[in-house]
Amino acid sequence: MDVPRLRRAPPPFPPHPPQPPQHRTDREQRTEEPVLKADPSAQLKLLDVQELDSRLDALRHQASHPPEGPVLRDLESSRAALRDQAADLQIQVDDLTRAQRKADDDVEQVKGRKVRDQKRLDSGQVTNPKDLERLQHELVSLDRRIGELEDTELEIMAHLEDAQRDLAEVQAHLVEQDAKAQELDATRLERLGGLRAEGGEVVARRKEVAATLPADLLALYERLREQKNGVGAALLRQRRCGGCSLELNSGDLAVVSKQPADDVVRCEECGRILVRTEESGLR
Ligand SMILES: [Zn+2]
Repeated sequence: MDVPRLRRAPPPFPPHPPQPPQHRTDREQRTEEPVLKADPSAQLKLLDVQELDSRLDALRHQASHPPEGPVLRDLESSRAALRDQAADLQIQVDDLTRAQRKADDDVEQVKGRKVRDQKRLDSGQVTNPKDLERLQHELVSLDRRIGELEDTELEIMAHLEDAQRDLAEVQAHLVEQDAKAQELDATRLERLGGLRAEGGEVVARRKEVAATLPADLLALYERLREQKNGVGAALLRQRRCGGCSLELNSGDLAVVSKQPADDVVRCEECGRILVRTEESGLR
């Protein structure tokens, strides 16, 4: 007898592999790190390094954001527009100058012909009445032609004068704006020189102080400074972290109070190095 085949339940889903924690807080991460040791005087000096680094950051920011910047940028774009305008007007002036010269030549040419015809008429050499009549007609039509050409020339000259006046105005405006930009740029460069000089002093001083600090303390500070918006170490003043401005809760404060002076303490809130002094409010 055939044993009816039992329907087998589908295999259960394979269990999920253990998931790594999605997010580890600063606090969790820090408890895994061994507490760094550093002489309290070195910890105090770290605050000097921090101050110098912050000063250098501020100087760099000032150098890259000069107060003249927005005005200089506006001036640059308006000067570019004026230069384009001047170039267009110069082309107009050149074209109109050529056109005026041509119109003048045309007038002179017709006038020359009129003089020749008039001479022939005055010389009395033309005696045939038909020829005489044709010559007189031609003189009349040459006069009319001269009048038309002179009108055209006058019109061109009026346009040329307009274009020359506009060009002169644009050029004057451009000279004015160039001078303004030059003045502002000189002010900017002078300030930049001052900032660079101060920056050089700060860098030298920072190098001096940093050279006296233990490498591991400096490395931790630099890592934190990079992660935490330029501030890696802060003074604990009246129970408050100078980095995140938060007050330590009583539990954390009790822990910090018990830590030996050469323990490098970290803020439980922001993770920065907390330097303890008499003003820390731990007693
Ligand atoms: Zn903090």
